[in-house]
Amino acid sequence: MWLTQSAIETILVSLISEKDTLTQLDVAIGDGDHGANIERGCRAVQSIVTDLVDLDLSDATHKIGYTLLMSMGGASGALFGTFFLTLGRKLSQTPDFSEFCTAFENAIQAVQDRGKSEQGQKTLLDVLIPTSQLLLEQAPPKKWRDISDFAMECANNTKCLEAKVGRASFLGKRSVGHIDPGAYSCALIIHQICDLLEVRYE
Ligand code: ADP
Ligand code: MG
Repeated sequence: MWLTQSAIETILVSLISEKDTLTQLDVAIGDGDHGANIERGCRAVQSIVTDLVDLDLSDATHKIGYTLLMSMGGASGALFGTFFLTLGRKLSQTPDFSEFCTAFENAIQAVQDRGKSEQGQKTLLDVLIPTSQLLLEQAPPKKWRDISDFAMECANNTKCLEAKVGRASFLGKRSVGHIDPGAYSCALIIHQICDLLEVRYE
């Protein structure tokens, strides 16, 4: 068992509770469905939680990716799905921290390949890429809270960027001044996982 059922459920419930915020962010620069997409993905994962706790980290992460890919919808469904699928595929059954970092980088690269996108284009990559770099620098972090705060700061910083890919890019310069919804949901996921790790390893 890699995470308890209640730990996974805590993450999912907390993400679902942010649905309205995510909807509002996507109404501002997209089509308003990001909150609903995240909720759909979380509910699908909720329905397999009892299966997940019997799997090792690699298989559980892979299964989460597959479930998101099949359920979430939207550009984010394909991208989150690809991320977790690749992460699961690259992890061994009991990875150490350095192996986790390499798998994390591979998963980010798979998202970039799928989205044909890079850092600086106002997407979830603007949280994932800098956060993975910080993880590598700290290897392993002394305080998971610092990683979590940094990811949130990265999401907030997407306000300054102009969207170059995805629906928000249709707005051009008018996308500046708004937080990217996918960047924010990524930061929320990182925040939740770091909270759990902080408690576990304090
Ligand atoms: P959709 O854009 O299909 O409505 P969502 O609203 O669920 O899907 O997700 C939008 C988020 O997906 C964006 O905020 C952005 O972070 C991310 N995104 C969209 N297109 C790309 C891309 N090509 N590369 C990386 N991330 C992207
Ligand atoms: Mg949308």
